[in-house]
Amino acid sequence: VVTVYLGLGSNIGDRKDTLCKAIVMISGKIGSITNISSLYESEAWGYESKNKFLNAVIAVETSLFPDEILSEIKGMEIMLGREEKGKDGYEDRPIDIDILFYDKFVFETDILTVPHPHLEKRKFVLAPLAEIAPDFMHPILHKNIKELNEACKDEIQFFEG
Ligand code: ADP
Ligand code: MG
Repeated sequence: VVTVYLGLGSNIGDRKDTLCKAIVMISGKIGSITNISSLYESEAWGYESKNKFLNAVIAVETSLFPDEILSEIKGMEIMLGREEKGKDGYEDRPIDIDILFYDKFVFETDILTVPHPHLEKRKFVLAPLAEIAPDFMHPILHKNIKELNEACKDEIQFFEG
């Protein structure tokens, strides 16, 4: 059994409800949820959108392999109303679930890169992660989440409600 950290985001529809549904699905399909961050609200990252994201990070104890987790995640994204990705990169979505870390493992295949690339630039990942795993060491950067979060100066807000 290993701990996998998943990043969740939603910026259209009933965002909070969708995140809750995703968490229920994850606990049924991927493993026991051992920690859930607060909710954060952030501007769309990497593209322009009037719809802000609601983000959270969870820790899950799983016996699945990374590729199995990815296919479960993709199934959940579709069930929660996500449509086929356009070719223009980032876009609005009711749900995005990303594998941030799979324990301390580092690997890269055609379909999966872990740790998730560029997470050290994304406050919407680092701020919630710093709540639940401040001492977790990034296996490539060799800095812990607390340090990475303090170094990342993007804007982020707690979500109340
Ligand atoms: P993004 O999250 O970058 O906006 P998508 O959610 O549509 O885009 O993901 C596109 C593809 O990224 C997925 O189909 C998956 O194969 C790939 N991918 C690579 N690494 C990861 C990861 N660590 N977690 C989730 N998806 C990943
Ligand atoms: Mg994704």
